[in-house]
Amino acid sequence: MAQSVVIVGAGITGSLLAWRLAKRGCAVTILEGRHVGAGSSSRTAAGIRQQFSTPATVRGMRFSVDFYRRFPQLVGGADVPIVQNGYLFLYDREESWGAAQRRVHMQKAAGLQEVEALPVEELRTLFPWVDPLTVLGASYCPTDGFLHPAVVYTEAISAALRLGATLVQQAPVQGVRKQGDHIQAMITPKGDFAADIFVDATNAWSPRLGRVLQATELPILALKRYLWLLERGPSMSPEALLGLPLTIAPSGAYCRPENADRLLMGWAHDATPEADFSYEDQDRIEPAFSHRTGTETAAFETWATLAEVVPAFAEFPGIVATTSGYYGSTPDHNPFLDYDPLVPNLLRLSGFSGHGAMFGPFTALVGDALVQAGASIPHVEVLGEDIQLAPFAIGRDFSGAEQLVI
Ligand SMILES: Cc1cc2nc3c(=O)[nH]c(=O)nc-3n(C[C@H](O)[C@H](O)[C@H](O)COP(=O)(O)OP(=O)(O)OC[C@H]3O[C@@H](n4cnc5c(N)ncnc54)[C@H](O)[C@@H]3O)c2cc1C
Repeated sequence: MAQSVVIVGAGITGSLLAWRLAKRGCAVTILEGRHVGAGSSSRTAAGIRQQFSTPATVRGMRFSVDFYRRFPQLVGGADVPIVQNGYLFLYDREESWGAAQRRVHMQKAAGLQEVEALPVEELRTLFPWVDPLTVLGASYCPTDGFLHPAVVYTEAISAALRLGATLVQQAPVQGVRKQGDHIQAMITPKGDFAADIFVDATNAWSPRLGRVLQATELPILALKRYLWLLERGPSMSPEALLGLPLTIAPSGAYCRPENADRLLMGWAHDATPEADFSYEDQDRIEPAFSHRTGTETAAFETWATLAEVVPAFAEFPGIVATTSGYYGSTPDHNPFLDYDPLVPNLLRLSGFSGHGAMFGPFTALVGDALVQAGASIPHVEVLGEDIQLAPFAIGRDFSGAEQLVI
């Protein structure tokens, strides 16, 4: 008999899983508190990289990149959502440059043949816009890039609906009916929804949903993250800007083209977790981060640190917009992809830190395998190889932290 599944949350995670489950014949209902894309999925830098720190995540992200490349054939729509401009990590210290070279070795062994460690002489030839005096070397993967995230969640939801799924918007889950430990139905203002299996795809909201469902309190912190748009000046042509890889300065600040005339910039900062943020808080810009407040802000610091390695940016006329959203961060920056130990028919797919857009296709694959199994499983097969799921288990010890977090 076909399984029935209720998914809570219609961002990249929920929409890709809905499509995948509906394609397999499951009876899928998506409950969304506001509207499709109301959370971080519409506020993301959407960088997609395969340069990760463990073989499991490298393989998982190779799957995601391949999936996004073939998205129109697999899911539908006319647009390929991924722009493969590459990812360029720049290093200025012997220690971090040495670690990067060892990581490239591991990444190649995990099947990412095209990644390269570039000494500064090669960097100078390939990326002449980087000031070679400011760095020791770089790692570069030309098949990494970034996404148009709205294409992903709108097309995936449309495809799921064509396959028979039901979407209920303005339906925040506010209560639960249980039999013993198991959820029987979720309660929303639009009615009660029963299923065999329930999926938490609410990411930064996950701890709150967990309390409503009397589930495990997952260590996921909602942390504010900002992005800024810098207007292009004559020091770089529109074509050159459009062709830039997602570039990470040694400071950790990063940038990528938004379009031919705008550079999108970001830089993680210390942030106080906001357990009870509202939907409106997602777009609340604190003065210390707003480009409108003046030059003593994180906006201008980010521009300055990027301009140290790419001098052409210093000539750009100015920052024209600040946007923000929440990371759902875990202690090791890896997500939870597992059944809840306290609620055996509740699958938690949340806590993506800055990686939920790139994890999306891999998350949906793992989620589908877990739904089919009906219980935790040790591994999934991805691109012909087994990926262990222990790094994503609820109850892991967090010692295998992801090293590359921006
Ligand atoms: C500034 C910024 C930059 C980022 N950069 C990157 C990047 O470069 N690469 C990358 O891969 N990731 C990046 N991320 C992270 C990425 O955007 C997220 O991890 C990803 O979008 C999470 O998708 P999701 O579908 O799991 O959650 P979301 O998109 O947040 O969706 C969760 C949904 O759940 C719904 N919901 C919540 N509670 C309930 C409830 N009780 N009932 C019903 N519905 C509910 C919400 O309305 C929301 O629509 C960035 C994030 C930010 C904010």
